[in-house]
Amino acid sequence: GIVVENVSKRFGSFIAVNQVSLEVKSGSLVALLGPSGSGKSTLLRLIAGLESPDEGKILLTGKDATYQSVQDRNIGFVFQHYALFKHMTVRQNISFGLDIRKVPKARRKDRVEELLELVQLQGLGDRYPSQLSGGQRQRVALARALAVQPQVLLLDEPFGALDAKVRKDLRAWLRRLHDEVHVTTVFVTHDQEEAMEVSDEIVVMNQGKVEQVGTPADIYDNPASAFVMSFIGPVN
Ligand code: ATP
Ligand code: MG
Repeated sequence: GIVVENVSKRFGSFIAVNQVSLEVKSGSLVALLGPSGSGKSTLLRLIAGLESPDEGKILLTGKDATYQSVQDRNIGFVFQHYALFKHMTVRQNISFGLDIRKVPKARRKDRVEELLELVQLQGLGDRYPSQLSGGQRQRVALARALAVQPQVLLLDEPFGALDAKVRKDLRAWLRRLHDEVHVTTVFVTHDQEEAMEVSDEIVVMNQGKVEQVGTPADIYDNPASAFVMSFIGPVN
């Protein structure tokens, strides 16, 4: 799992992440939910090692990772606009992490086919990214992130750029995928419905702080503050 202990991050005098503590249990899917500017991406980048905290500690699978490099953290990422390699086919994109780790060719081939099936893109392995829909591209990005069996998967609004219908389909699909793969996952979104549907637990953020942590039902039934109530509150 992931443990974040009292982590803060400043940009100049501005505090983007303010003494945040949270725990993501091994194999669970946690959503970071909050409005624009609440520090979700910064917190994700701190967990990834793309930013270093001004204070606090980050533990990954029980080990102190606070000063570990990105590479040593063994993390898979998918961002909103994930740049797939345009000159590589779907298969080559998915295989990338295995290639640089010099995984034997036969194993690589099997693994890529397995991943194509996992993200339901069988038959599209030889296409180039420009020949895919946005939703298909994000599934390739997810397969590429999962290829190296990361200990942690970090998703920053992976479906944010897609239209509403595709997003809805993909969030249900992500939930099913997670039930199959069980990799510890942090999913950033500003969409409360998405967080409710996808995650085991929700971390509600506001102005760099954690407002509340709980299961979707907890948070919906017992919002801890006026902010959570207004942000989560009954949708109509
Ligand atoms: P969004 O939903 O819009 O993606 P977010 O919750 O992901 O928002 P962050 O990207 O974490 O928010 O940003 C939190 C705050 O920190 C914002 O006010 C942002 O302007 C500021 N910030 C983030 N990165 C930097 C940076 N490199 N330099 C200065 N300020 C930054
Ligand atoms: Mg963000």
